[in-house]
Amino acid sequence: MRKPLMAGNWKMNCTVKDAVELVKELKKYVKDVKNTEILVCPPFTALNEVSRTVKDSNIELGAQNMGYEDSGAFTGEISPLMLRELKCRYVILGHSERRHIFNENDGVINKKIKCALKNNLKPILCVGETLLQRRANLTKKIILNQIQNGLKDIKADDMKNIVVAYEPVWAIGTGKTAMPYQAQEIHASIRDLLEDMFNQDVGFNTRIIYGGSVKPDNIKELMMQSDIDGALVGGASLKAKDFSQIIRY
Ligand code: PEP
Repeated sequence: MRKPLMAGNWKMNCTVKDAVELVKELKKYVKDVKNTEILVCPPFTALNEVSRTVKDSNIELGAQNMGYEDSGAFTGEISPLMLRELKCRYVILGHSERRHIFNENDGVINKKIKCALKNNLKPILCVGETLLQRRANLTKKIILNQIQNGLKDIKADDMKNIVVAYEPVWAIGTGKTAMPYQAQEIHASIRDLLEDMFNQDVGFNTRIIYGGSVKPDNIKELMMQSDIDGALVGGASLKAKDFSQIIRY
């Protein structure tokens, strides 16, 4: 069965001190949680200290982005080797803020996914439509393109290390969550697509998590949907208590 994954994306928030305080508090709240995978993705500067703080706990570490080469002349980029050195297990790739603010396209995201896999990092591939695209009835087409291009030339066997996050852009940081049935519909179509692109096992076993204004009071209903396997949480993951309630849904 698919183990639920609750991932906190702290975005460009938290100094090292704030980050350590936040994760220490979270650790206390969730120390007995076993059946859900817990992940925090602090900013790069806090990864080292957070890594030390979560060592030997049930909280895993991830990064919010990554360069697509192991090393070289890429000013300002962070490589997968550097993330592995700090014990990162996951990396968020193709977040809508990277796509829309920093113009990352599917080709770049595909390169990053391949580089992450080569370095034993698990990519969380984010996909999602804007409000205009949803209103124009383009949601499924957009997501199909993002997944087909983002996962171009990826082998079925590698899919066990990839998580897909469906994050409607209009729901991120806006307080508007997709209705659980709306999210379920898209998650089910992503699963069908993965089955078509790879095989039945990949369709069934790939974790597809939802993101977009997830809060303690809406997580339960989202998690009741058969194809929602967890959440990618922005704002609410910055409060240890709220995030722990989401984790315990
Ligand atoms: C996100 O950062 O991916 C996200 C979904 O943010 P929020 O929960 O704040 O909408």
